[in-house]
Amino acid sequence: MSSGRLLKSLSRDLASQSRAQLRKRAFSLALLKARVAQTRQSPKRDPHSRLDGAAGLRQTAAMTAPTTALEKADPLAEVAARYAIAITPTMQALLDPDDPQDPIMAQFFPDVRELIETREELKDPIGDHPRSPVKGLVHRYPDRCLLKIVHVCPVYCRFCFRREMVGPSGEGALSVQELKAALDYIRATPAIWEVILTGGDPFVLSPRRAAALTQALAAIEHVKIVRWHTRVPLVDPARVTPAFVASLKAPGVTPWVAIHANHPREFSPEGRTALARLADAGVPLVSQTVLLRGVNDDPATLEALMRAFVENRVKPYYLHHPDLAPGTGHWRGRIEQGQALVEGLRRSASGLCQPAYVADQPGGHGKARLNPVNARKTPGGYALCGHDGRWRAYPPEQDG
Ligand code: SF4
Repeated sequence: MSSGRLLKSLSRDLASQSRAQLRKRAFSLALLKARVAQTRQSPKRDPHSRLDGAAGLRQTAAMTAPTTALEKADPLAEVAARYAIAITPTMQALLDPDDPQDPIMAQFFPDVRELIETREELKDPIGDHPRSPVKGLVHRYPDRCLLKIVHVCPVYCRFCFRREMVGPSGEGALSVQELKAALDYIRATPAIWEVILTGGDPFVLSPRRAAALTQALAAIEHVKIVRWHTRVPLVDPARVTPAFVASLKAPGVTPWVAIHANHPREFSPEGRTALARLADAGVPLVSQTVLLRGVNDDPATLEALMRAFVENRVKPYYLHHPDLAPGTGHWRGRIEQGQALVEGLRRSASGLCQPAYVADQPGGHGKARLNPVNARKTPGGYALCGHDGRWRAYPPEQDG
């Protein structure tokens, strides 16, 4: 089909179609936008290409090129214009396009419900900005800080807590001067024992840049741990080359890697090999999962996911309640349901398979454990006890 005919077809009234059909069409639309943008625009330097020159990132940039007429005609085009969209060939190969409930498609394909925003949702849901003394650095807890080195990812999760900051039109990568200022802050703050590299996904860095960053952090006497948070080993395993794994190591610091995955089907043979490459190199691995309505909020799936982590030498660490990011209410279940799932997991699976169920509190107050002692139902929602022992209100979930 020609671009013109496909464009026309995608712009028709979509109201009568099922959600799965809508998602498939939205993704086709995003791909079409990429194609149209690539043919119409003269080659332009991608601000992120210096990271590694990856074609995937350039394609991601093109996917969000504005197509105003389409956005007016199609709510899913509006979603595509508002939030970044990308999926890797590895993830695309794992999804079942004929399954309207496909858990991989659900995580990466846009949904019209993303246009529904509620009062309690926030552009900066976990309060990065109030805790950011210098650009790209978040200092929330005394002994550790986040360093948000890049704001691009090989995939864009529809529930992303930093969806207002990531993507080609997000906050971008730190400049040399900004990175220097962040490193100066860490150097001047002896309490910082651990630096958590996040973003965006820091595993998009080239081995050369990753090694330079590791070495810069290792040169700071009081920094002992460098923790990388990433989806790359499972969503884009080819990036986990021996050279990249070597770049995580430097005398004086211990690397840890937190692997983000939400469904056992994300563990492809290539992804398992990437995880093994990290583990064989002696890099300790922990997990992080977002508890997503319709993807992993049932006992069998959650247990299979935790077993998949452990079988691949990844210790389950965090099970996140979805954050209050704009347009993500359809992902959040009830905290009581999450507590019941975690209790069921405790009864059915090995101690190795147990993550901590947590929520980030709005305003930058950090994580609260969502066990029955630290999370209580109130008439207006919940009260959560933070790491500082203070109780704060947390809004109720949406019905549905
Ligand atoms: S990989 Fe992480 S930062 Fe990137 S879109 Fe997904 S949740 Fe957001």
